[in-house]
Amino acid sequence: MTLVHLGLGTNLGDRPANLRAALAALAAIGTVTARSDVWETAPLYVTDQPAFLNMAVALETGLAPLELLASLKAMEDELGRVASVRYGPRLIDLDILLYGDVVMEGEILTLPHARLHERHFALAPLAEVAGAVRHPVLAVTIAGLLERLPEADDVRRLGPLA
Ligand code: ADP
Ligand code: MG
Repeated sequence: MTLVHLGLGTNLGDRPANLRAALAALAAIGTVTARSDVWETAPLYVTDQPAFLNMAVALETGLAPLELLASLKAMEDELGRVASVRYGPRLIDLDILLYGDVVMEGEILTLPHARLHERHFALAPLAEVAGAVRHPVLAVTIAGLLERLPEADDVRRLGPLA
């Protein structure tokens, strides 16, 4: 079993319902041992789209990295994600932020997530469940990485998922 940390994002449809459906689906591949509050965040990269809800969870799972990625992609499909532009709107986006201490760089999967350290919307919720965890490449804690980012007034903590 490995403790992994996932980032959940949604900006279409009933966003809290999408997060609840994702949590229910995750229960099939492991045990969710911690979950962050829900954060509302402005879209990056493609800014002309609705705001996201983001969340981070800790998951104990027996799945290997590529198996986990395949399961998450199957869940994204099942939860109704439609193929769309990169960084565009989606019903649910499930990312592997950290897979224990594993470091890998590949065509299909990069661990830790390649853009984790620059993404306020990923680091803010992740810091709630893994603030003291050290990024295995940068050797800085998640809380430290978050502190390093410029202030963002478009990343707001809403509270626990209802
Ligand atoms: P993003 O999550 O960066 O906004 P996408 O969800 O469209 O973008 O993911 C694009 C591709 O990134 C996925 O098809 C997946 O193969 C790849 N990928 C690489 N590393 C990871 C990771 N750590 N977690 C999730 N997907 C990843
Ligand atoms: Mg993704």
